[in-house]
Amino acid sequence: MIVVIGSINMDLVLRVPRMPLPGETLSGGAFRTIPGGKGANQAVACARLGRSAVAMIGCVGDDAFGATLRAALAADGIDVDHVSVLPGVATGVASILVDADGQNSIVIAGGANDQLTPAHIDAALPLLARASIVVLQLETPLDTVRHAIATAYGMGKTVVLNPAPAARLPAGLLAQVDYLVPNEIEAAMLLGAAASDDHAGSAAALRAMGCRNVLVTLGAQGVHAALADGSRDCPARAVTAVDTTAAGDTFIGGFVAALAGGADPASAIDLGQRAAAIGVTRHGAQTSIPYLNELEPT
Ligand code: ATP
Repeated sequence: MIVVIGSINMDLVLRVPRMPLPGETLSGGAFRTIPGGKGANQAVACARLGRSAVAMIGCVGDDAFGATLRAALAADGIDVDHVSVLPGVATGVASILVDADGQNSIVIAGGANDQLTPAHIDAALPLLARASIVVLQLETPLDTVRHAIATAYGMGKTVVLNPAPAARLPAGLLAQVDYLVPNEIEAAMLLGAAASDDHAGSAAALRAMGCRNVLVTLGAQGVHAALADGSRDCPARAVTAVDTTAAGDTFIGGFVAALAGGADPASAIDLGQRAAAIGVTRHGAQTSIPYLNELEPT
Protein backbone atom coordinates (compact mmCIF):
# COMPACT_ATOMS: atom_id res chain seq x y z
CA MET A 1 0.00 0.00 0.00
CA ILE A 2 1.06 3.60 -0.70
CA VAL A 3 0.13 6.25 1.89
CA VAL A 4 0.21 9.90 0.79
CA ILE A 5 0.22 12.54 3.52
CA GLY A 6 -0.50 16.10 2.44
CA SER A 7 -2.64 18.89 1.10
CA ILE A 8 -6.08 18.76 -0.50
CA ASN A 9 -7.20 21.93 -2.32
CA MET A 10 -9.87 23.09 -4.67
CA ASP A 11 -8.19 24.99 -7.51
CA LEU A 12 -10.26 28.02 -8.57
CA VAL A 13 -8.93 28.56 -12.07
CA LEU A 14 -9.70 31.77 -13.97
CA ARG A 15 -8.37 32.09 -17.50
CA VAL A 16 -7.82 35.80 -18.25
CA PRO A 17 -6.66 37.68 -21.36
CA ARG A 18 -3.83 39.18 -19.26
CA MET A 19 -2.99 39.68 -15.60
CA PRO A 20 -4.99 42.54 -13.99
CA LEU A 21 -3.13 45.58 -12.68
CA PRO A 22 -3.60 46.60 -9.03
CA GLY A 23 -7.10 48.08 -8.66
CA GLU A 24 -8.16 46.99 -12.16
CA THR A 25 -11.25 44.89 -13.01
CA LEU A 26 -10.94 42.65 -16.06
CA SER A 27 -13.76 40.80 -17.77
CA GLY A 28 -13.69 38.02 -20.33
CA GLY A 29 -12.46 35.26 -18.08
CA ALA A 30 -13.52 31.60 -18.04
CA PHE A 31 -13.84 29.90 -14.64
CA ARG A 32 -13.42 26.26 -13.55
CA THR A 33 -13.07 24.49 -10.23
CA ILE A 34 -10.55 21.63 -10.47
CA PRO A 35 -9.46 19.29 -7.65
CA GLY A 36 -5.84 19.94 -6.69
CA GLY A 37 -3.36 20.25 -3.83
CA LYS A 38 0.02 18.56 -4.09
CA GLY A 39 -0.87 15.74 -1.70
CA ALA A 40 -4.17 14.90 -3.35
CA ASN A 41 -2.64 15.18 -6.84
CA GLN A 42 0.12 12.75 -5.90
CA ALA A 43 -2.38 10.31 -4.36
CA VAL A 44 -4.50 10.43 -7.51
CA ALA A 45 -1.43 9.90 -9.71
CA CYS A 46 -0.38 6.90 -7.57
CA ALA A 47 -3.88 5.42 -7.90
CA ARG A 48 -4.23 5.99 -11.66
CA LEU A 49 -0.71 4.89 -12.60
CA GLY A 50 -0.31 1.65 -10.65
CA ARG A 51 -2.03 -1.32 -9.14
CA SER A 52 -1.22 -0.79 -5.45
CA ALA A 53 -3.81 0.29 -2.91
CA VAL A 54 -3.51 4.01 -2.07
CA ALA A 55 -4.62 5.82 1.09
CA MET A 56 -4.49 9.52 1.91
CA ILE A 57 -3.99 11.31 5.22
CA GLY A 58 -5.11 14.95 5.18
CA CYS A 59 -7.78 17.44 6.20
CA VAL A 60 -10.67 19.19 4.49
CA GLY A 61 -13.30 21.54 5.93
CA ASP A 62 -16.98 20.70 6.43
CA ASP A 63 -17.98 22.67 3.33
CA ALA A 64 -19.03 21.85 -0.22
CA PHE A 65 -15.45 21.89 -1.57
CA GLY A 66 -14.36 19.44 1.13
CA ALA A 67 -17.18 17.03 0.32
CA THR A 68 -16.44 17.23 -3.42
CA LEU A 69 -12.70 16.69 -2.95
CA ARG A 70 -13.13 13.76 -0.57
CA ALA A 71 -15.58 12.16 -3.00
CA ALA A 72 -13.18 12.75 -5.92
CA LEU A 73 -10.37 10.94 -4.09
CA ALA A 74 -12.70 8.05 -3.25
CA ALA A 75 -13.83 7.90 -6.89
CA ASP A 76 -10.20 7.25 -7.83
CA GLY A 77 -10.25 4.29 -5.44
CA ILE A 78 -8.27 6.05 -2.71
CA ASP A 79 -8.96 5.14 0.93
CA VAL A 80 -10.17 8.41 2.54
CA ASP A 81 -10.87 7.10 6.05
CA HIS A 82 -8.01 9.32 7.29
CA VAL A 83 -9.05 12.41 5.34
CA SER A 84 -10.49 14.25 8.33
CA VAL A 85 -13.43 16.63 7.92
CA LEU A 86 -12.82 19.54 10.31
CA PRO A 87 -15.90 21.36 11.60
CA GLY A 88 -16.02 25.13 11.14
CA VAL A 89 -12.89 25.22 8.99
CA ALA A 90 -12.65 26.14 5.29
CA THR A 91 -11.24 23.62 2.82
CA GLY A 92 -7.94 24.70 1.25
CA VAL A 93 -8.21 26.64 -1.99
CA ALA A 94 -5.75 27.82 -4.62
CA SER A 95 -6.85 30.88 -6.58
CA ILE A 96 -5.13 30.59 -9.97
CA LEU A 97 -5.09 33.20 -12.75
CA VAL A 98 -3.84 31.90 -16.11
CA ASP A 99 -3.16 34.45 -18.86
CA ALA A 100 -3.26 33.99 -22.64
CA ASP A 101 0.44 33.00 -22.65
CA GLY A 102 -0.20 30.24 -20.10
CA GLN A 103 1.64 32.12 -17.32
CA ASN A 104 -0.04 31.69 -13.96
CA SER A 105 -0.29 33.60 -10.68
CA ILE A 106 -1.38 31.56 -7.67
CA VAL A 107 -2.52 32.44 -4.15
CA ILE A 108 -3.14 29.57 -1.73
CA ALA A 109 -5.33 29.69 1.39
CA GLY A 110 -4.28 26.55 3.26
CA GLY A 111 -7.44 26.35 5.40
CA ALA A 112 -7.91 22.82 6.76
CA ASN A 113 -4.49 21.75 5.41
CA ASP A 114 -2.88 24.04 8.01
CA GLN A 115 -4.58 22.00 10.76
CA LEU A 116 -3.11 18.59 9.96
CA THR A 117 -1.40 17.72 13.27
CA PRO A 118 0.95 15.01 14.56
CA ALA A 119 -2.15 13.59 16.31
CA HIS A 120 -3.71 12.87 12.89
CA ILE A 121 -0.56 10.91 11.99
CA ASP A 122 -0.66 8.97 15.27
CA ALA A 123 -4.34 8.15 14.70
CA ALA A 124 -3.32 6.58 11.38
CA LEU A 125 -0.56 4.32 12.75
CA PRO A 126 -2.39 1.09 11.80
CA LEU A 127 -2.71 2.43 8.24
CA LEU A 128 0.97 3.42 8.13
CA ALA A 129 1.91 -0.04 9.37
CA ARG A 130 0.35 -1.49 6.18
CA ALA A 131 2.24 0.89 3.85
CA SER A 132 5.34 0.05 1.87
CA ILE A 133 5.91 3.64 0.69
CA VAL A 134 4.96 6.92 2.42
CA VAL A 135 4.86 10.10 0.30
CA LEU A 136 4.94 13.67 1.68
CA GLN A 137 5.20 17.30 0.51
CA LEU A 138 5.40 20.64 2.37
CA GLU A 139 1.88 22.10 1.97
CA THR A 140 0.97 20.99 5.51
CA PRO A 141 2.60 22.16 8.78
CA LEU A 142 6.31 21.35 8.99
CA ASP A 143 6.00 19.91 12.51
CA THR A 144 3.51 17.37 11.17
CA VAL A 145 5.70 16.52 8.17
CA ARG A 146 8.66 16.07 10.49
CA HIS A 147 6.66 13.82 12.83
CA ALA A 148 5.26 11.78 9.93
CA ILE A 149 8.70 11.26 8.38
CA ALA A 150 10.21 10.21 11.71
CA THR A 151 7.31 7.82 12.29
CA ALA A 152 7.48 6.25 8.81
CA TYR A 153 11.28 6.02 8.96
CA GLY A 154 11.07 4.38 12.38
CA MET A 155 8.67 1.80 10.96
CA GLY A 156 11.13 0.99 8.17
CA LYS A 157 8.97 2.42 5.37
CA THR A 158 10.35 3.86 2.14
CA VAL A 159 9.97 7.63 2.56
CA VAL A 160 9.50 9.88 -0.51
CA LEU A 161 9.61 13.66 0.09
CA ASN A 162 8.69 16.30 -2.50
CA PRO A 163 10.06 19.42 -0.73
CA ALA A 164 7.48 21.75 -2.32
CA PRO A 165 6.80 24.59 -1.96
CA ALA A 166 10.49 25.44 -1.57
CA ALA A 167 11.66 25.67 2.05
CA ARG A 168 14.73 25.21 4.23
CA LEU A 169 14.45 22.01 6.25
CA PRO A 170 15.82 21.14 9.68
CA ALA A 171 19.07 19.21 9.82
CA GLY A 172 18.46 15.53 10.27
CA LEU A 173 15.19 15.37 8.35
CA LEU A 174 16.82 14.49 5.04
CA ALA A 175 18.67 11.58 6.65
CA GLN A 176 15.24 9.92 7.08
CA VAL A 177 14.32 10.31 3.39
CA ASP A 178 14.87 7.55 0.84
CA TYR A 179 13.86 9.53 -2.27
CA LEU A 180 14.00 13.35 -2.26
CA VAL A 181 12.25 14.80 -5.35
CA PRO A 182 12.83 18.58 -5.64
CA ASN A 183 12.65 20.77 -8.74
CA GLU A 184 15.63 23.07 -9.40
CA ILE A 185 14.28 25.90 -7.23
CA GLU A 186 13.51 23.60 -4.31
CA ALA A 187 16.95 21.96 -4.59
CA ALA A 188 18.62 25.37 -4.43
CA MET A 189 16.50 26.40 -1.43
CA LEU A 190 17.42 23.24 0.49
CA LEU A 191 21.09 23.91 -0.21
CA GLY A 192 20.79 27.60 0.71
CA ALA A 193 22.33 28.42 -2.68
CA ALA A 194 21.35 30.16 -5.90
CA ALA A 195 19.70 27.94 -8.56
CA SER A 196 22.45 26.24 -10.52
CA ASP A 197 22.80 24.43 -13.85
CA ASP A 198 25.11 21.96 -12.15
CA HIS A 199 22.33 19.49 -11.39
CA ALA A 200 24.75 16.66 -10.66
CA GLY A 201 26.52 18.91 -8.14
CA SER A 202 23.23 19.93 -6.47
CA ALA A 203 22.02 16.34 -6.26
CA ALA A 204 25.35 15.17 -4.85
CA ALA A 205 25.27 17.94 -2.24
CA LEU A 206 21.74 16.92 -1.23
CA ARG A 207 22.82 13.30 -0.94
CA ALA A 208 25.65 14.49 1.28
CA MET A 209 22.93 15.95 3.58
CA GLY A 210 21.76 12.39 4.16
CA CYS A 211 18.97 11.40 1.76
CA ARG A 212 19.76 8.16 -0.04
CA ASN A 213 18.48 9.08 -3.52
CA VAL A 214 17.78 12.46 -5.14
CA LEU A 215 15.67 13.05 -8.25
CA VAL A 216 15.90 16.68 -9.42
CA THR A 217 13.06 17.40 -11.84
CA LEU A 218 14.02 19.78 -14.65
CA GLY A 219 10.74 20.47 -16.49
CA ALA A 220 11.05 19.79 -20.23
CA GLN A 221 14.66 18.71 -19.68
CA GLY A 222 13.61 15.68 -17.61
CA VAL A 223 15.21 14.45 -14.41
CA HIS A 224 18.71 14.26 -12.96
CA ALA A 225 18.80 11.12 -10.81
CA ALA A 226 21.47 10.66 -8.15
CA LEU A 227 20.77 7.14 -6.96
CA ALA A 228 22.58 5.04 -4.42
CA ASP A 229 24.01 3.04 -7.36
CA GLY A 230 25.08 5.98 -9.55
CA SER A 231 23.93 9.16 -11.29
CA ARG A 232 22.30 9.68 -14.66
CA ASP A 233 20.40 12.24 -16.73
CA CYS A 234 16.98 11.00 -17.77
CA PRO A 235 15.57 13.10 -20.64
CA ALA A 236 11.85 13.99 -20.74
CA ARG A 237 9.60 12.93 -23.64
CA ALA A 238 9.33 15.64 -26.32
CA VAL A 239 5.74 16.94 -26.31
CA THR A 240 3.97 20.26 -26.85
CA ALA A 241 3.03 21.38 -23.35
CA VAL A 242 -0.16 23.40 -22.85
CA ASP A 243 -0.30 23.46 -19.02
CA THR A 244 2.40 22.15 -16.67
CA THR A 245 0.21 22.32 -13.54
CA ALA A 246 0.81 19.13 -11.51
CA ALA A 247 3.61 17.92 -13.80
CA GLY A 248 5.79 17.25 -10.78
CA ASP A 249 2.91 15.58 -8.93
CA THR A 250 2.17 13.30 -11.88
CA PHE A 251 5.85 12.39 -12.18
CA ILE A 252 6.06 11.56 -8.46
CA GLY A 253 2.83 9.53 -8.51
CA GLY A 254 3.99 7.52 -11.51
CA PHE A 255 7.43 6.98 -10.00
CA VAL A 256 6.01 5.83 -6.65
CA ALA A 257 3.33 3.64 -8.24
CA ALA A 258 5.96 1.85 -10.32
CA LEU A 259 8.31 1.50 -7.34
CA ALA A 260 5.49 0.03 -5.23
CA GLY A 261 4.81 -2.43 -8.06
CA GLY A 262 8.38 -3.72 -7.86
CA ALA A 263 10.05 -1.66 -10.61
CA ASP A 264 13.69 -0.63 -10.22
CA PRO A 265 14.24 3.14 -9.75
CA ALA A 266 15.34 3.77 -13.37
CA SER A 267 12.19 2.10 -14.78
CA ALA A 268 10.05 3.93 -12.22
CA ILE A 269 11.57 7.27 -13.30
CA ASP A 270 10.75 6.38 -16.90
CA LEU A 271 7.12 5.61 -16.09
CA GLY A 272 6.80 8.85 -14.10
CA GLN A 273 8.18 10.86 -17.01
CA ARG A 274 5.92 9.17 -19.56
CA ALA A 275 2.93 10.01 -17.39
CA ALA A 276 4.01 13.63 -16.80
CA ALA A 277 4.58 14.11 -20.55
CA ILE A 278 0.92 13.23 -21.15
CA GLY A 279 -0.19 15.39 -18.21
CA VAL A 280 1.41 18.57 -19.59
CA THR A 281 -0.60 18.23 -22.82
CA ARG A 282 -3.81 18.66 -20.78
CA HIS A 283 -5.24 21.44 -18.63
CA GLY A 284 -5.64 21.48 -14.86
CA ALA A 285 -4.30 19.47 -11.93
CA GLN A 286 -6.18 16.19 -11.34
CA THR A 287 -7.97 16.59 -14.69
CA SER A 288 -4.59 16.20 -16.44
CA ILE A 289 -3.30 13.06 -14.69
CA PRO A 290 -3.39 10.05 -17.05
CA TYR A 291 -4.25 6.41 -16.34
CA LEU A 292 -1.78 3.56 -16.73
CA ASN A 293 -3.53 2.26 -19.85
CA GLU A 294 -2.91 5.60 -21.61
CA LEU A 295 0.88 5.27 -21.44
CA GLU A 296 2.58 4.22 -24.63
CA PRO A 297 4.41 0.90 -24.34
CA THR A 298 8.15 1.28 -23.66
P1 ATP B 1 4.77 21.61 -10.95
O1 ATP B 1 5.10 22.41 -9.73
O2 ATP B 1 4.16 22.41 -12.07
O3 ATP B 1 3.99 20.36 -10.65
P2 ATP B 1 7.53 20.87 -10.93
O4 ATP B 1 8.35 22.12 -11.01
O5 ATP B 1 7.39 20.20 -9.63
O6 ATP B 1 6.11 21.11 -11.59
P3 ATP B 1 8.83 19.95 -13.31
O7 ATP B 1 10.29 19.78 -13.10
O8 ATP B 1 8.38 21.17 -14.07
O9 ATP B 1 8.09 19.78 -11.92
O10 ATP B 1 8.25 18.69 -14.11
C1 ATP B 1 8.22 17.39 -13.57
C2 ATP B 1 8.42 16.40 -14.69
O11 ATP B 1 7.36 16.54 -15.64
C3 ATP B 1 9.70 16.59 -15.49
O12 ATP B 1 10.79 15.94 -14.87
C4 ATP B 1 9.33 15.97 -16.83
O13 ATP B 1 9.43 14.56 -16.78
C5 ATP B 1 7.83 16.33 -16.95
N1 ATP B 1 7.66 17.58 -17.71
C6 ATP B 1 7.49 18.83 -17.24
N2 ATP B 1 7.39 19.73 -18.24
C7 ATP B 1 7.50 19.03 -19.38
C8 ATP B 1 7.47 19.37 -20.76
N3 ATP B 1 7.32 20.63 -21.18
N4 ATP B 1 7.62 18.37 -21.67
C9 ATP B 1 7.76 17.07 -21.29
N5 ATP B 1 7.79 16.68 -19.99
C10 ATP B 1 7.66 17.64 -19.05
